[in-house]
Amino acid sequence: MGSFFYSMVDKDYQKQLEAWDKEYLWHPFTQMQDYLKESPVIIEEGSGIFLKDVAGKEYIDGISSMWCNLHGHRKREIDNAIKGQLDKVAHTTLLGMSNVPAIELARKLVEIAPRGLEKVFYSDNGSTANEVALKMAFQYWQHKGLKDKTQFVALQYGYHGDTLGTMSVGGIDIFNQAFRPLYFKTHLAPAPYCYRCPLGKQPDGCRLACLDELENILKKDAQSIAAMIMEPLVQGAGGMIIHPKNYLSGVRALCKKYNILLILDEVLTGFGRTGKMFACQHEQVVPDIMTLSKGINGGYMPLAATLTTREVFDAFLGEFSSLKTFFHGHTYTGHPLGCAAALAAIELFEKERLLEGLQPKIERLRNSLKPLESLPHVGEVRQCGLIAAIELAQDKATKTPYPWEERVGVKICLEARRHGLLLRPLAHIMIIMPPLIITPREIEMVVEIVGKSIEVVTG
Ligand SMILES: *Cc1c(COP(=O)(O)O)cnc(C)c1O
Repeated sequence: MGSFFYSMVDKDYQKQLEAWDKEYLWHPFTQMQDYLKESPVIIEEGSGIFLKDVAGKEYIDGISSMWCNLHGHRKREIDNAIKGQLDKVAHTTLLGMSNVPAIELARKLVEIAPRGLEKVFYSDNGSTANEVALKMAFQYWQHKGLKDKTQFVALQYGYHGDTLGTMSVGGIDIFNQAFRPLYFKTHLAPAPYCYRCPLGKQPDGCRLACLDELENILKKDAQSIAAMIMEPLVQGAGGMIIHPKNYLSGVRALCKKYNILLILDEVLTGFGRTGKMFACQHEQVVPDIMTLSKGINGGYMPLAATLTTREVFDAFLGEFSSLKTFFHGHTYTGHPLGCAAALAAIELFEKERLLEGLQPKIERLRNSLKPLESLPHVGEVRQCGLIAAIELAQDKATKTPYPWEERVGVKICLEARRHGLLLRPLAHIMIIMPPLIITPREIEMVVEIVGKSIEVVTG
């Protein structure tokens, strides 16, 4: 390391920045009382998989800057796409008119998406992409004359964002506690979380009994259910829960059988993260609605897309006075800079043959993780593509988790930070999710630091 960076903030200004950070900022998903006592990492620069803070310390970006950086920081092609677009126009509105990169990107997204998804609706982030999906599904049935289809089905431990609508279909108790009275009605189906099977089954003999539970819900309330929303293959924020094979295709079949739309939230899994362009392609599943955000432009600009079928789109066509218009849209919808960045980012998949190049990296990750399984406080190691989760257990035999108040995950991350690796845990679950451009050798380094940090903190 060391050769990528050139600027340096002097000591006095570092102190000043830290003081202002604590004086003026309120950080997301952060207990500020703790934050105010700690010394924050203030990032100044990035290059490839590396980040540098204002004190000059360098880190590997072990979680892709919150799961969205795929191509590395300061990627020349994406930088240039934004600079090029800046020389034309930075922002115009998509309400009733259009712009060049928004059109080109929509065409590209339809080209790479599973066949059948033909229409692109833009927004700014994962939450709004899902909010759009829920409203779209709801209004679709209103237009089809099935006005009782107003409810949703979602998975336990599911996460779809932080707006009130997406929280209503969220399955993470700790996030939901405070806001529950504001939610609309949602049926939660058991998560296929095999390490802690909610039905108490063993994975080898269960025959996906969780799908039967889902079917019971759908069978009973199909007339009042508009859509099922879920993260395909990997439930991210809920703990990187990795689904057993054929669960997704099972859900697809059930939704068809009971006339329920399937919304797949590929905000995390989209754009190569699982080893294919989209997670649903592992099981040849095509949803009715698919949402994308995090990886869409490699983390350069806030941008999201909700893709759907011609069938759903056509239900919204009608005379102006019929009020079939989809009443949704954000000021920054289809932002030209974000779309230009996304086009460049997607082109990198072809130009650098990224998906093919991922396979050896995924293998290296698998092999590097193996030794961690035998650590005394590692309950389970899970992996899907370039996502790894290491679930810690205070007692391995009984799978007793560490009490969340102990913040064991945070302590391990602080230890890793000392060794030059930036991570963020999900409670007692350690997450490794590097940029896709990481090399196999660097993957080994990352896993080694994580393993050592776990040993230091839990030893
Ligand atoms: C991060 C995430 C979201 C929310 O995206 P934001 O851009 O943070 O609003 C939604 N769904 C999934 C699966 C996510 O991982």
